[in-house]
Parts: sequence; C-alpha cells; structure tokens
Amino acid sequence: MRGGAVLIASERLADFVTAIFVAARTRPEFARETAEHLVLANLKGHDSHGVGMVPNYVDGIASGHLATDAEVEVLKDRGAVLLLDGRRGFGQVVGRQATDLAIERARDTGIVTLALRNAHHLGRIGTYGERCARAGYVSLHFVNVTGHDPVVSPFAGREARLLTNPFCCAVPRDGERPILLDMATSAVALGKVRVAYMKGEPVAGDALLDDEGRPTTEARYLYEEPKGSIRPFGLHKGYGLGLVCELLAGGLAGEHTIQPDNPRSAAIFNHMLMFVLDPDLFGGSTAFAAEVEAMADYLRGTAPAEGHDRVRLPGDPEAESMEERRAQGIPIDDNSWADILAAAGRAGLSGDEISALTAAGRAGGRP
Ligand code: NAD
Repeated sequence: MRGGAVLIASERLADFVTAIFVAARTRPEFARETAEHLVLANLKGHDSHGVGMVPNYVDGIASGHLATDAEVEVLKDRGAVLLLDGRRGFGQVVGRQATDLAIERARDTGIVTLALRNAHHLGRIGTYGERCARAGYVSLHFVNVTGHDPVVSPFAGREARLLTNPFCCAVPRDGERPILLDMATSAVALGKVRVAYMKGEPVAGDALLDDEGRPTTEARYLYEEPKGSIRPFGLHKGYGLGLVCELLAGGLAGEHTIQPDNPRSAAIFNHMLMFVLDPDLFGGSTAFAAEVEAMADYLRGTAPAEGHDRVRLPGDPEAESMEERRAQGIPIDDNSWADILAAAGRAGLSGDEISALTAAGRAGGRP
C-alpha cells in the first residue's frame, strides 16, 4: 500500500533514537553515537541505512545478537597489521573505534591493514572512509555480511548466495569534502528494497529477480515467500567484486563467510578489511592533491548527456541530499515510522515519552 510520510528535523530525530537505545539499556554515549550515525545516513539520502534500522537493532538487543556495551578487542597487533574483534557491539561504535586505531597507527607506519570481525551492522561504510579522509588518508573498505539469509544471486544464478557486501574508497581533498565511492555490490542495497516494500512502491529497473529468476519490480520477493533475489550490480563484474568482499572481509578478516555451514538468523553482522594509506608515503600529498583536483575539474567539466543535468563525483549526491534535508527535515514513510514507534515501545519508552520526544521534532507536515 502507498502511504504518506512524516518530516522530522535531524537533531530531534537523533534525540529520539538516542532515547530508544538508552531505554534498551545502551550507555548514553554509544546510544548517541549510533543515533547520529543513522541520522547522518538519512541526511545523506541513504534511508536504507538510517533510522529505519532501529527496529532491527532493538530486536537484536532483545535477542542478544547485539551486545550494547561491547568495544573492540585487539586480537593481533603486528605494526601495520591489526586484527580486531568487534564482539557483536554496535557497528557504529566498534567501526569508529577500529577506524581511529587504524588512523593512529598510520601516523607511524604510513600504511595500515586492519581487519575487524564480528561487528553488529556497521551502517553506512562511508562514515569510516570520511573519518580517514578527514585525517588526510586514503582508505579502502571491503565488507561482507553474515548472520542473515543471503539475498543476492551470483551472476547467471537465480538463487541468493551472497549479501549486499559493500565496498568503499575515500580519497581526501584539500579543503573539500572527499571523493567517496561507497556502494553495495548488489544492483540495489537491501535496505532500499525494504524502504520500497514499506512504501508499497516498485523497485525501478531490473535489480530484482522473482523466484523463477525472471526480472521483477516487486519488493515482496525479498520479504515474502516464494523468495526471489537481488542481482549483483554490473553483471559479472559486480558479482566478482561482491565475491572479493566476501573472501577478503568474511574469509580473511572475519573467518566467517555466508557459506551455509555458518550460522544464520535475523541478525546482521559485518566483517571489514580496511586499508589506510598516507599519500605522503608515495609521491607526496601536494602532488597527489593537485592530480585529484585536476581530475575532479576535468570530470565535472564534462558536457552532460541527454537526460542529465551535469556530471557529478562520487559523494556529490550525498552532499546535495544533506543540504536539502538539513534545511527541510528528514522524510520517513508512514510504515517505517510506525515500526520505529513500535520499536520505541518494545525498548521500554512509555507512550507519553514517545509522544513528547516525537511531537517536538516534527519539522513540518507531509512532504
Ligand atoms: P548508491 O547507489 O546510492 O551510491 C553508490 C555510490 O555512487 C556513492 O558513492 C554515490 O556518491 C555514487 N553516486 C551516486 N550517484 C552518482 C552520480 N550521479 N554521479 C556520480 N556518483 C554517483 O549507494 P548504495 O549502493 O545504494 O549504498 C548505499 C549505502 O548502503 C552505502 O552507504 C553503503 O555503505 C551501505 N551499505 C551497507 C551495508 C552493510 O552491510 N553495512 C551493505 C550494503 C550497503
């Protein structure tokens, strides 16, 4: 069914989500950090990785899949190589802790390879890339997803065998936001199919296959029996990159891939292999920055093709969304909003507390 949406100011939304996690017995600073990460994903236009995840996290806390107090544990420390266990903690917290350790180490070693295993959902991977870029480093992130049934079919297959395994690369720029390629290796992120399902809208293009392996626009094939699958992006190439994420993040970093002998439930765990590189170690930051700027100008100067207004760089759409949503508020479809309110109740907030926290936050009527 097609529904409306509420429009809510980002600061108030972050306060509400923080209160939900605190009610679910999360320490306030972890609750705040996770809430702000989710709201930032909404601001950047990625509702798939925003506050729509709250019901899943609340249920993860209740089932014991998400350990609210957990922090990273260093399993191996060999100079430029670090192996960490996220101990099923909030991905937003252990992911940030891991990133900070990698940045700190890169100041000594120039290059760091860090493996983080057993994080609960890491959310928007670009957040960690942006953190590295702010410190002046290039970063690469390969991530896989376990704990969940697969949803992505391999190229030429009609059965799901992988998840949406994101890849991210952040390139810092002088005084500018970084170039940030941050993407699922599926034709569409699972969360975007969830958002379409909640809104009762079709999923555009030929991203989905039904249970017979035929293209479909119906999101229900991911959430109701008989199940279909999401295609990898870019045919065999996206399939290949998704597999590389599975093997590097799941196999090497996490020792836990989506192969069927490993346990599955309704949880979402991420494993990540990240590389942090100091440009000074190569040709030097100044020469690198000059080449990056020249390429950025060259690409942005491309004449637009029919049906397009201009050529953008990876990261530009998110910046545009952020400007708009900061000013106007974040739209949340009615079904997702109802699920978040229900999750707030399950977390332990009373009806009065929920009303007080949400009434003040409405930025406006229905968009
Ligand atoms: P997307 O398809 O919207 O964007 C992918 C990339 O393409 C981005 O870097 C974006 O800036 C760039 N881009 C988009 N339009 C562009 C244009 N016109 N010109 C130039 N560049 C453009 O993203 P997605 O694949 O739907 O992924 C969404 C988010 O989901 C990401 O933040 C990702 O990290 C996250 N994710 C997380 C998990 C997880 O398990 N934690 C799994 C999958 C995806």
